[in-house]
Amino acid sequence: MVNLSIDMTDYTKPKTLSRLCLLATLLVATLLFAALPTGFVGAQATTYPEYVVVPGDTLSWIALRFDSTLDDLLAINGLTDTSMLRPGDRLKIPSLAGLQGILTTEYVALGSSLTSLSRRSQAEPADLIRANKLTSPSELFIGREIIMTHLEDTPMMTTMASLKTGQSFMEASILSGQNTWTLTELNRLKNPLRGLPMDTYYEPSDVESPNNLAIPGVKEILVDNLPLLQGDTFLIEVSSDEPVIVAADLAGIQPVFVDMGGGVQMGYGGINALTDVGVYPLTMEFTNSEGATYRFDQYVMISSGNFATDQPLQVDPASVGTDDEKAENAKFKEVVAPVTPLQQWSGLWYSPAQDADCIISSFGSRRTYNNDPSLYYHTGLDLGYCQGVDVYAPAGGTVAGVFPDQVVRGNAIVIDHGLGVYTTYMHLSQILVAVGDVVRPGQLIGIIGTTGRSTGPHLHFEVNVHGTPVNPLTWLRRAFP
Ligand SMILES: [Zn+2]
Repeated sequence: MVNLSIDMTDYTKPKTLSRLCLLATLLVATLLFAALPTGFVGAQATTYPEYVVVPGDTLSWIALRFDSTLDDLLAINGLTDTSMLRPGDRLKIPSLAGLQGILTTEYVALGSSLTSLSRRSQAEPADLIRANKLTSPSELFIGREIIMTHLEDTPMMTTMASLKTGQSFMEASILSGQNTWTLTELNRLKNPLRGLPMDTYYEPSDVESPNNLAIPGVKEILVDNLPLLQGDTFLIEVSSDEPVIVAADLAGIQPVFVDMGGGVQMGYGGINALTDVGVYPLTMEFTNSEGATYRFDQYVMISSGNFATDQPLQVDPASVGTDDEKAENAKFKEVVAPVTPLQQWSGLWYSPAQDADCIISSFGSRRTYNNDPSLYYHTGLDLGYCQGVDVYAPAGGTVAGVFPDQVVRGNAIVIDHGLGVYTTYMHLSQILVAVGDVVRPGQLIGIIGTTGRSTGPHLHFEVNVHGTPVNPLTWLRRAFP
């Protein structure tokens, strides 16, 4: 009985207290409602995510970046348009009302998906969709700038070791030494027994890792020369801990991967200058020594090369598309086809002409002949005769072919630089090398002329990557790798 009465007392007190609390709350709430503008009645306080100002930011740039108006941005932050911004200031972003945390921007890396981004940042997928106005997975293409939200009390995350075939998420989480249930929740999994080998999972860490890959044995994949343009060269570099056979396909281009030693494989590709601008899937496949294959797709944007359109050309119809020309084209196609495994160049290339700025026709310009609607494009860079007539090897290589008196190309040289990369020199007056010669960068190889189908002395300089003519200026302006 004694116990019961104590129990009764203990249960009664809180009830009385809670009734009192409820009355107090109602009273405060009534007073608040009376004081607030009608628009806020019944609404919870609106949250705004914050952007941390970095050096160089301006209010109008921040408004533009987050699709807000300058007036809204000033109003919500109690600023005027003359307010000074200091790096480290935090600005509420009105266009993303309802979201929380700190906003950062980053570029979509290979292997990223909405799920992996959400797991790493601990932001809700719906919030990422809203912040980035995503309507389709293809909008998460490699290299795209995206807005991420980070809640301040969430841990930094790094990728967990990828699941091996047949391994459960629970097994992998135990091996990682962390709490399985915490990891299950952080990775938004309903059941730790379920987990996919190709999925990317994260664990808390002292350093944040942007690595989104989940391919056993593969440490890193880099896609170089983003954003990709029509007529441009790209390089895919794969680093792996164990032997792996790599295959890739982008817009029908299949780079040949060459083992560079030290667990690194490189594959070069050339995008046709007439490829339609748009988003293309890059498909990659990795086969390990046990024969297990991992595959993933990631979107890549191919942007406009902004090529000029030349005046329609009128030429002797008998000189276009002749059997001689077709045979010549086939012969040159064959010469530049093999992928030799030794990279013979290093770093940036030299200009092959004495005056690198004497460009008389750019790569990629669109051409039509004799009012034929078929579109052609200029497959090389035309360097005029301005300061001198010398033609130099722009990089190390081996002479793969010398071709005197060609119908279109005149006197021509082809140099193999390795890994599927070739250069061709056309319309020369003299050829100063022989097949099989190993050339040094800057070595004199020929003299500018106007042989073959040419209207005046110039060097047509062409770079081929796996047989596709690519923009030579890329190779003169940046180093691969
Ligand atoms: Zn040309």
